[in-house]
Amino acid sequence: MKTVHLKPVFWTCEEILFVTGHGPFPLFLNRFHLSDSDSCACGEVGDPIHYAASCPLTLSWHIRKPSTPLESLWYQRVLENQNSSKRIINMIKFIIDNENIMRL
Ligand SMILES: [Zn+2]
Repeated sequence: MKTVHLKPVFWTCEEILFVTGHGPFPLFLNRFHLSDSDSCACGEVGDPIHYAASCPLTLSWHIRKPSTPLESLWYQRVLENQNSSKRIINMIKFIIDNENIMRL
């Protein structure tokens, strides 16, 4: 997230991991030297948007990919939409449960 707001939000742990990118994502783990690679098992860079929109391993929970200039608005809209939010929560739970097969 690029800005700070004083309005409280009531996100689940999974939603916070998704929005901040501070979770079981290869890009994050590699950045902090907790993994040798920033790649998902499919070969693409493993960030939250990759898993939510294009990774074949999380196809069951895909939502439409944002255009780059609208990325921060996309995060907000995804979590405001109950259906999209449920998909994200279930996808993050899947990634956590299968962390070892989700990265190279
Ligand atoms: Zn992937």
